[in-house]
Amino acid sequence: MHGIVLKSTGKWYQVLLEDQQVVQASIRGKLRIEGLKTTNPIAAGDRVILDDQAEILQGREEYYTIRSIEDRHNYIVRKSTNLSKQMQILAANIDRAYLVVTLKSPVTQVAFIDRFLVAAESFRIPTTLLFNKVDLFTDEENAQFHYLKSVYEKAGYPCYPISAHEASTVEFLQNEIKDHQVMISGNSGVGKTTLVNSLDASLDLRTGEISKAHEQGKHTTTFAEMHPLASGGFIIDTPGIRAFGLVDLEKEHYAHYFPEMRELLGECRFNNCQHINEPHCAVKAAVENEDIAAHRYHTYLQLMHEDDSDPHRRSDY
Ligand code: GDP
Ligand code: ZN
Repeated sequence: MHGIVLKSTGKWYQVLLEDQQVVQASIRGKLRIEGLKTTNPIAAGDRVILDDQAEILQGREEYYTIRSIEDRHNYIVRKSTNLSKQMQILAANIDRAYLVVTLKSPVTQVAFIDRFLVAAESFRIPTTLLFNKVDLFTDEENAQFHYLKSVYEKAGYPCYPISAHEASTVEFLQNEIKDHQVMISGNSGVGKTTLVNSLDASLDLRTGEISKAHEQGKHTTTFAEMHPLASGGFIIDTPGIRAFGLVDLEKEHYAHYFPEMRELLGECRFNNCQHINEPHCAVKAAVENEDIAAHRYHTYLQLMHEDDSDPHRRSDY
C-alpha cells in the first residue's frame, strides 16, 4: 500500500493513503536508506510503502507499519545541531520552491535571492520567483522588476509579478501547485501568510518567523509538515526556516550553482579556475560584457570569500 508522509513527529508519521485517509504509522524492521547520516529516516514529502493491514495498539488506536521508502528525487537537510555532523532531513521530494520577494515594504535584498537560489540549486530544487505587492509598484520599481526578471529568467528561474490580494494571482498559483509538492519561502513581511491563506483559508501555516533563540543557533526540534491544498497539490511548511542554508557546500562547486556561470565553465583557460583573478576567465569576461549580472557575480565572490563559520551559512538562515 502506498502513502505520502505529511508529518513526522520523530517516532510517528502521519501518512496520507491513496484513498485520502490520513493514518498514523511507524517504522518497524530495518529500512533500506541511502548512505546519509541522518537523525531521522523519513520526512514530510516521502513516499512510503506500508503494510496493508493496520494493527490495534493498546486496544484502541490503529496504526500502520512503514516497510520501505521510495527513492527521493531531492530533499532538504540541515545540521541537527551545530556540533554534530548528523543531518536532519526536513522534507523530501520538493517539486518546486516559490520564493516570494518584494521590491518595497520590505525590500528583499538581491543577495538574499542569490543565496537562496544557490542553496536551491545544491538541493536540486527548481525555483520560481514571485514578485509580490506589484499593486504598490511605481514606474521605477516596475523597471527594476523587468530588469531582475530578465536576469533571473536568463539563469532559468521563472519570474512573475503577483499581488496576494488579487483573485488572478490565487488562481495562477493554485494552477501551478496542483499535482505538485512545493515550498513557499521568503523573508518576513513579503506576504507568505496572506498568499497561503488566500490559496486555502483552512490552512494554518506557521510559515516560519525565526525566534531570537533560533537565530542565535539554538536548535529546537522542528519538523516540517505538508498540507494538502483543497485545489490540489501540497504545500510543505518548514517552521522556523525562511530560506535554507548552505550546508557543507564546497567552494569549488559554487560556480556550478549559478546556472549562467555553469554553462561557461569549460571555457576558462584553467580548468581549476575560481573566476576571481585568473587570466582568460570566461566568467569574468561574461560579467564584463554584462551577460552575467554584476550583482550575481558579486554574490558569488562574497560566497567564495566567506568564512565557513559565518552564521549566514548556517542551515536555519
Ligand atoms: P509574511 O510575513 O511573509 O507571512 O507576510 P504577511 O502575509 O504577514 O504580509 C505582510 C503584510 O503585507 C500584511 O500587512 C499584508 O496585508 C501585506 N501584503 C501581502 N501581500 C500584499 C500585496 O500583494 N499587496 C500589498 N499592498 N500588501 C500585501
Ligand atoms: Zn574562470
